[in-house]
Amino acid sequence: MPKARVLAWLVQFAQTDVASLQGGPPGDLPNLIYELRQWLDLEPDEPLSRSVPELEAQPARLQPLVDRMAQLLEAVADGRRFEASYSGGSVILEAGRLRSEGGRALSYRDASLEDAILRLALDDLYENVKATGRIRRCPECSALFFATRVNQKYCCHACANKRASRLYRAAHGPERADRQHQRYERKLRERLGRNVKVRRRPRSSARP
Ligand SMILES: [Zn+2]
Repeated sequence: MPKARVLAWLVQFAQTDVASLQGGPPGDLPNLIYELRQWLDLEPDEPLSRSVPELEAQPARLQPLVDRMAQLLEAVADGRRFEASYSGGSVILEAGRLRSEGGRALSYRDASLEDAILRLALDDLYENVKATGRIRRCPECSALFFATRVNQKYCCHACANKRASRLYRAAHGPERADRQHQRYERKLRERLGRNVKVRRRPRSSARP
């Protein structure tokens, strides 16, 4: 998986709806597992490389992995401390791979897939501090998102608009905002109700 994609993918993974994956379009689950394998970059002889395909038969086992990723990334987005116990394993440095693109030179033989995912995510966050700052929480809907622009504050346009209209209401008073809205609705109803075509007024310069 290209480095530039990794953190955005982790955010996506943390938001996986496991229940809907199970009953969703047939390609979704294999796709997710394929990407998980790409990201983990497991050696074929690693015991864990057998655990990943097993997820396809038992997708419910994805849930704790997704939950743990969400806990980690939410802590990152909120600037909080994250702590998890770790069962460890062994680590191998393939020094010959240090200079090659792609492939991880360090390969850990973790005791569990959960530990492998946690450790690799920590590595990736730590190695890309700038990009890690783009993992944010939307102040409107509190969803996690990966900001595509440096100054992006909200997860989507809908949330940005909701916040803007709330601020408007707060500044101008709820009565005024409501009155304005009612006036607009009344006009619209009058227009549509009578089925009157609204003609453009002549330009003011053409008036006597
Ligand atoms: Zn949002």
